[in-house]
Amino acid sequence: MNDLLNTAPCGFVTFADDGTILFTNVRLRERLGYAAGELEGRPLETILSVGGRIFYHTHFFPLLKMQGIAEEIYLSLKSKSGDDVPVLANAARRERDGQTVNDCVFVRMRQRQRYEDELLRARKEADEAGEAKARFLSMMSHDLRTPLQAISGYADVLALEMHGPINDEQREDLRAIKSASQEMMRLMNDILGFAQAESGRMEVRIAPVAIGDALDRAESLLRPRFQERGLTFERSECADDLVVAADPDRLQQILLNLLTNAIKFTTPGGTISVACEPAGSNVRIHVRDTGIGIPEERVADIFEPFVQVHDEKTPAGPRGVGLGLAISRDLARAMGGDLTAASSPGHGSIFTITLPRA
Ligand code: ADP
Repeated sequence: MNDLLNTAPCGFVTFADDGTILFTNVRLRERLGYAAGELEGRPLETILSVGGRIFYHTHFFPLLKMQGIAEEIYLSLKSKSGDDVPVLANAARRERDGQTVNDCVFVRMRQRQRYEDELLRARKEADEAGEAKARFLSMMSHDLRTPLQAISGYADVLALEMHGPINDEQREDLRAIKSASQEMMRLMNDILGFAQAESGRMEVRIAPVAIGDALDRAESLLRPRFQERGLTFERSECADDLVVAADPDRLQQILLNLLTNAIKFTTPGGTISVACEPAGSNVRIHVRDTGIGIPEERVADIFEPFVQVHDEKTPAGPRGVGLGLAISRDLARAMGGDLTAASSPGHGSIFTITLPRA
């Protein structure tokens, strides 16, 4: 029996409940650098690393004592020369000469440790690359916004005729400059918002927000666009006590994004409606449109960054960069809620913001 134990391709130790080593096989002694008889009578701690000792006392031995068996336990042994030797341990208790002893098999984990190290390194590299990308995007959009603000500001100065009168064609051109720079600013804000979310720097300041007020704000901003596009806007009354715990500016950002999309993807004559309802400890806000909809199998994709389902020919408004919904969902989640969608091509879409009730 001892021959078999000595030649088996794994370490083996038998120890008493007080931790005294009663038997070790040749493999274990060879691997840890001990001579025959050198370990017997000494405490098990002799062959455990510092971490291994703590784990042995707090988890491994209590588990073994309680269940009579402990399987696939990760332990770190220590060789005589002080090297850490990671192993997987399987142990079982048995009676021997009226005394309970613990048999324990150790299998080396050299490969697994290497795979784990590789995975950790790859993960670290990916995190660093992601961080660098987010920093770059954030810096770029900051740097691009400053000249953009100047273009828009100087267009205003000219339109206000601060440097002399302008004719109608020039006024029209200035309006085009202004509207293009506003659109560009919107894209820059999307990219900046996304970069912030990516780098985990998305800040939310939670406060009680009455949904009715948030919808009033969004509606008054977008009313001219509904009219311009020949769309009907409907709003079901939200009960006065529907107050959510949210960041008011971020909630506004999500609402504006959903409503702007609804305007973009709904043909004239259509209807956009907003409704809210309590749902347990949450409140749901639905933004519905009768627009062109989204194929069912693509609905989940639209929340992914840079995904745009419709090609350039479809309805109104300039295309964004496909970040609005990704940012909106991140924001909703950062506030302890969520953003989901359901859609039917040709019939319209419904986006639902869920937020905790205040
Ligand atoms: P963007 O509007 O900048 O393209 P979004 O992330 O806001 O980016 O939207 C991603 C895509 O989801 C859009 O390009 C469009 O294809 C689709 N989408 C969003 N809202 C609607 C909607 N109300 N109706 C139909 N499709 C929509």
